[in-house]
Amino acid sequence: MEFVILNTGAKMPIEGFGVFQVPDAAVCEQAVYDAIKTGYRLIDTAQAYMNEEAVGKAVNRAIADGIAKREELFITTKVWVSNMKTEDTAYESVKTSFAKLGLDYVDLILLHQPMGDYFAAYRGITKAYKEGIVKAIGVSNFYPAILANLCENVEIMPAVNQVELHPFFTQDSAITLMKEYGIAPQAWGPLAEGRHGIFTHPVLTEIGAKYGKTAAQIALKWNAQRGVSILPKSVHVERMEQNFNIWDFTLSDEDIQKITALDLGHSEIVDHSDPAFVKMINGFKI
Ligand code: NAP
Repeated sequence: MEFVILNTGAKMPIEGFGVFQVPDAAVCEQAVYDAIKTGYRLIDTAQAYMNEEAVGKAVNRAIADGIAKREELFITTKVWVSNMKTEDTAYESVKTSFAKLGLDYVDLILLHQPMGDYFAAYRGITKAYKEGIVKAIGVSNFYPAILANLCENVEIMPAVNQVELHPFFTQDSAITLMKEYGIAPQAWGPLAEGRHGIFTHPVLTEIGAKYGKTAAQIALKWNAQRGVSILPKSVHVERMEQNFNIWDFTLSDEDIQKITALDLGHSEIVDHSDPAFVKMINGFKI
């Protein structure tokens, strides 16, 4: 496993395990426990995923069973938009997340979307950071202009910006901007949520054949090799293992270029510039 050094000085595993769209508590708890057993040390949840309790149970069970120590684990959660009304609502939601997770601290808390009153909410998570109950703060889905405006106006720079990043949406200039501000880029949907036939894509499959790897492993390694943290999600143990087994090969420059050339230049999953999407997100209350 490789690590990303955050602007706080903390070490974040470059590969983590995501639990979006795992609403069933028993399935989520088992998946997180299996992921930690497989070797994942970063778990990415969110208030909006409605599974913080299940994640916490799995994490605490894995610690009790001696599979990993708390200090080896890196737990991320995210403040949802309906809690991003004021500094206090954001701060109080962090406390609620702790209670649900059954943890004394989290390693990273992100504002899930650049919506609601995100400056007030950022002050709320900054307060939690200054109290030491949150080890790092950051944002998610902050596209370049919004990220630049945030960074130009806050006291503490975000440590991470988690955005959609995969071979079909490479966002090279967004990553350049993040690096300019010392922010670690983190990929959600590193497997494009299964779109574009990614698992059987001819370019990824052909490159994979050279290294004895699957298309999924090639897509994940491509991001990791450009310094992007990845959070593949799977509720199947064999896929968790496959997605984790990417640390014994290096893509050639030529192969990296072929993968980067798959970029479509836009997302086909969400459109943050679409008012209908913004309204839908604001309407989702937790
Ligand atoms: P993803 O990881 O790109 O793709 C997950 C999908 O791929 C699931 O359907 C999974 O199915 C399947 N899969 C995984 N590994 C596979 C393999 N080796 N072979 C074949 N199929 C495979 O999508 P994601 O879950 O949306 O993104 C990852 C994480 O990023 C999330 O879980 C969440 O933590 C985070 N995220 C954050 C945001 C945000 O706004 N900040 C948005 C989306 C996601 P099975 O589970 O059935 O195996």
